[in-house]
Amino acid sequence: MAIHKCIIIGSGPSGYAAAIYAARANMSPILFTGPQPGGQLTTTTEVDNYPGYPTGISGPDMMEELRAQAERFGTEVRWELISKVDFKTGEKFHKVWTESGEELHAHTIIISTGASAKYLGLSSEERLMNNGVSACAVCDGFFYKGKEVAVVGGGDTAAEEATYLAKLCPKVHLIVRRDELRASQIMQKRVFNTPNIEVHWNTETEEVLGNEKVSGIRVKNKVTGESKELPVEAFFVAIGHKPNTDIFQGFLDMDETGYLLTVPGTTKTNIPGVFASGDAADKVYRQAITAAGTGCMAALDAERYMVEEEIG
Ligand SMILES: Cc1cc2nc3c(=O)[nH]c(=O)nc-3n(C[C@H](O)[C@H](O)[C@H](O)COP(=O)(O)OP(=O)(O)OC[C@H]3O[C@@H](n4cnc5c(N)ncnc54)[C@H](O)[C@@H]3O)c2cc1C
Repeated sequence: MAIHKCIIIGSGPSGYAAAIYAARANMSPILFTGPQPGGQLTTTTEVDNYPGYPTGISGPDMMEELRAQAERFGTEVRWELISKVDFKTGEKFHKVWTESGEELHAHTIIISTGASAKYLGLSSEERLMNNGVSACAVCDGFFYKGKEVAVVGGGDTAAEEATYLAKLCPKVHLIVRRDELRASQIMQKRVFNTPNIEVHWNTETEEVLGNEKVSGIRVKNKVTGESKELPVEAFFVAIGHKPNTDIFQGFLDMDETGYLLTVPGTTKTNIPGVFASGDAADKVYRQAITAAGTGCMAALDAERYMVEEEIG
């Protein structure tokens, strides 16, 4: 069976950036697009913060351009997902299986499988997605500068999103299901010391209101049973992300939520020849540019690994 030089799992910004660098380094990468070709950005209308697009670009268009750039240098893009892997220390190659059962071998594997934002599951939330509903304040907060907004969640992410938005918006409602925050003490302190954040304790979101775009939310206090409407123009869901790393369980080191662990300052995992990039290994920044940056690092790490191991 052929041993490929490089297999890339995932087609978000990190996967395509890795592909561009690996292809230009003559590693003939095969990239698997997975269940969401183009990754998370294909679910958003406007990307305004990726350098190189002074007037912004739609998420799907940007990902088409990245794919075309990767293909230009000879990346083989396969519209399939990887359902099983076998990585072992000490082996000169690693194994992956496609969903249709094909087995492939490669000296290096770059994992760029991303993460998925968690949502509340309300139909109104889904209907108004990208029209006021967002899971990323850093991405979309600027669109609501000067407006009243809400954030739902009680952990560090929610506290961070609320304090970030409080610098742009006159009023931020923080909707918390319990009577306390799960966020770290330092983040709690920041929330409580920010005068334009109003915390709504013991409160659940019943409905996101609006036809074409968000015009408010209806929330209910679980203790008093009282419902009320908050006149917000954006609703930021900050209840966590799930990294798409289930198939690597048992092979790769990960934290308690499934984020892949890498040697600091590199994309190296605990298995030589296997590298991790993008949101699958990053619970801190979660941006397209950081994903693309670590995708580049993964391809360079993979290329250097091949040289050090005197492969190919
Ligand atoms: C609605 C929304 C708007 C956003 N807006 C912005 C923005 O304006 N600016 C910004 O910088 N960031 C934005 N982000 C964040 C940005 O999209 C992510 O940080 C970035 O896409 C992460 O890239 P990635 O390559 O790590 O993974 P992802 O984009 O998550 O892609 C993961 C890829 O892995 C594939 N995959 C998963 N499992 C498998 C498998 N088993 N086999 C094969 N393939 C697999 C998927 O199909 C997908 O192609 C936004 C996110 C969302 C959800």
